[in-house]
Amino acid sequence: MAADPFAPPMELCRPVPRNDHAQAHVPEDRRGAGGAGGTDGETAGGAATTAAGTATADGEDGGSDTAIVAGTAPGFRPFEMKEGGELVGFDVDLLEAVIEQAEGYTLSGWQEFEFSSLIPALTSEKIDTIAAAMTINDERDETIDFTDPYYSANQSVLVREGGEFSPSSLADLSGQVVGAQTGTTGEGVVQDQLINRSELAESNYNSYGNYVLAVEDLVNGNIDAIVIDEPVAATFASDRQVDVAFTYETGEEYGFGIRDGASDLQSALDSGLEAVREAGTYEDLTKKWFEQDG
Ligand code: GLN
Repeated sequence: MAADPFAPPMELCRPVPRNDHAQAHVPEDRRGAGGAGGTDGETAGGAATTAAGTATADGEDGGSDTAIVAGTAPGFRPFEMKEGGELVGFDVDLLEAVIEQAEGYTLSGWQEFEFSSLIPALTSEKIDTIAAAMTINDERDETIDFTDPYYSANQSVLVREGGEFSPSSLADLSGQVVGAQTGTTGEGVVQDQLINRSELAESNYNSYGNYVLAVEDLVNGNIDAIVIDEPVAATFASDRQVDVAFTYETGEEYGFGIRDGASDLQSALDSGLEAVREAGTYEDLTKKWFEQDG
């Protein structure tokens, strides 16, 4: 009778003291806007809901802080998801704590996108930073910049719970139908390690706008396996009829994405991250979101 670690009690959702700017979240009714539907309200819609920008707001010290807009892609528990219509998760808490410590910046709100739309939203200035468990890699580094890393992860392979198919290596996925979320490093593993090596036919790969949809297809028997970040695979394994078959080491590190050349914001967020680690807030947040089982 284990407690469901993926449905944190509401009182646990917001333990981090927040300054006034945190109230400037996108209002409840707007946060749900554009939801993809049919996915437990977990997935992001493509539509942006508020105007992003770099308007200035008065800081508490009477100075002028730059208000920034953060973008994320819910449906990636426990990093970002919707609970009772509210956007919550490790990334949400962490970025908010980091910005509180980032000199010269405040957070004016969050916008939700599909994962693959986040970098375009950043480069087109709809948002100013990405907090979406986004892996720092060379390909993305050509288009955007990242803060220092804030979390490490590998890829896991999910299969149906109690099913016949229990692969122990990527090669075992040969001939099966495999899914991943569009634009992710999980999709990159399928492409590089399987499709490009002719271990998997292109037609045996299904790309989904959100992993929630991929997991539904896995549970329903439409696909046989999913490649997905390990911590999120563990979450799905706990609250859906899926199991982690094995983990494939990729040694990824997540960073907050920022526009290329936004060096002031980059150093402010890097110092903020360091301050949040030093204050013990980082550890508190990992306990809150990753150790709810105790
Ligand atoms: N870490 C993976 C990536 O960056 C997946 C992120 C996600 O799906 N939110 O591609």
